[in-house]
Amino acid sequence: MSDLATYQQISDGLLLPTKAFIGGKLTDASNGETFASINPATGETLCKIAHCTAEDVDSAVQAARRAFDDGGWSRAAPEHRKEVLLKLSRLVRENADELAVMESLDAGKMITDCLDEIGGEVANFFQWYAELADKSFGKVAPTGEDALALVVKEPAGVVGLVLPWNFPLLMAAWKLAPALAAGCSCIVKPAEQTSLTALRLAELAQEAGVPDGVLSVLPGLGETTGQAIGRHHDIDIVSFTGSTEVGGYFLRYAGESNLKAVGLEMGGKSPFIVLDDADLNDDLIEHAATSAFWNGGQNCSANMRQLVDAKIADDFLDRVLTRAKAYKVGNPLDPDSDIGAMVTQEHMARVTGYIERGISEGAQMLTGGGRNGAGFFVEPTVFAGVTHDMTIAREEIFGPVLGVLLVNGMEEALKLASDSIYGLHATVFTRDIDRALHLARRLPCGTVSVNGFSEGDIKTPFGGYKQSGSLSRDNGTEAMEQYQQTKTIWIQNGMS
Ligand code: NAP
Ligand code: MG
Repeated sequence: MSDLATYQQISDGLLLPTKAFIGGKLTDASNGETFASINPATGETLCKIAHCTAEDVDSAVQAARRAFDDGGWSRAAPEHRKEVLLKLSRLVRENADELAVMESLDAGKMITDCLDEIGGEVANFFQWYAELADKSFGKVAPTGEDALALVVKEPAGVVGLVLPWNFPLLMAAWKLAPALAAGCSCIVKPAEQTSLTALRLAELAQEAGVPDGVLSVLPGLGETTGQAIGRHHDIDIVSFTGSTEVGGYFLRYAGESNLKAVGLEMGGKSPFIVLDDADLNDDLIEHAATSAFWNGGQNCSANMRQLVDAKIADDFLDRVLTRAKAYKVGNPLDPDSDIGAMVTQEHMARVTGYIERGISEGAQMLTGGGRNGAGFFVEPTVFAGVTHDMTIAREEIFGPVLGVLLVNGMEEALKLASDSIYGLHATVFTRDIDRALHLARRLPCGTVSVNGFSEGDIKTPFGGYKQSGSLSRDNGTEAMEQYQQTKTIWIQNGMS
């Protein structure tokens, strides 16, 4: 870990990628249009980036299909894909500082988080799925001697990967690593707010040996570039991470075009449950704060709804409040800050709008609420007296807001936790293994984390129940299955 001066120096020397990467070439948008990339910590424009049109999407799809049919990647020996993806993993590690600074400038994210995510997780994702490529076996079905039935997995074809802005390169890796390992051709659309690192990754992938056409990155706006991907007739699968509203659009686009398969990872309103027997130690308080404030709360599995047993709520609130006040909001490039900026001015206004709504609906704001500095900063905010019917207890805020709701006993906690249109994540704190297991089984969500806030890791599937997701999962071996077709080969035995 270096200091602000070092990251500032890297920042000063950065060459920001501004062109789309289509079929192995850096290109402008077909109509020459651009959009601005803004630094959320200052409000200043970093650069202008190509705004890809439907025509550009079509060029990328044609290049992707040619590459897929050619078989240089899709039908290559898995060992070859493994070798290339391992090289990409190494290149990401070697370029981690530059990528992390780029992402911090583009997204307002803390440099410390960017370094962990990119130098650690992103590189690990390419490594893990590279290793999986030549260790994934098909099946032989139990037939009699009259036949041999093979169940084999094949790459699904051309996939569109549409990304959010909160973990820009990490979300790209969550999807790209398994899709490339499976042998698919990929078309990535980063969020308009955070295109830079995905564009740089495309260059590194080319350097690693990913063939031209197998990976294209098309920056642009959702309504144009994103919609053109959703509606394209020659894209086989879309994997989307973003809001529940836009996830719904992708289902509609598929229904109105070629019925492409759509994998959805969407929003949440995840509970953090503290039962009366929980040990209220520093570790628990740290998890409570991290679950709400990590990445400035711009996290799909943020545990903003903290359901705390009334018997221990006063103590919990006091300690969470002290912890929240200790966070330092400031320059994302400074490793001494804890929370960076909200991604855009509009998003900052959305978050502060929710805070105002919390106050007007009668919750008590104990700290925070204010903007902080010239960029799009919001202070960590803690609400007490939140009730289940309040807007801040029901809608996804996606900012640094923690709300405490009182519950009386485990069954009430389960009832309130479950009563949501979302079902992405839940945390449970209790020392009673029976209560922990009961809640883990009954909570209707994709991940339940017990006695610690965690999303799991690369090996465990991540996704949501209800309006948080579709049946597809990111991470784990399950992610690779998103990008594969299943084929049965039935061979008759003429001798039997
Ligand atoms: P978003 O507004 O839904 O955007 C996601 C992506 O969809 C962006 O690339 C966006 O493009 C594109 N898009 C927007 N409108 C579109 C349209 N009409 N047609 C096609 N594409 C369109 O979400 P976000 O604000 O970036 O991200 C925050 C959301 O993501 C939160 O709800 C969060 O919970 C969710 N999230 C979920 C997970 C998970 O794994 N479940 C992980 C991270 C985030 P532009 O940005 O260019 O408009
Ligand atoms: Mg930006």
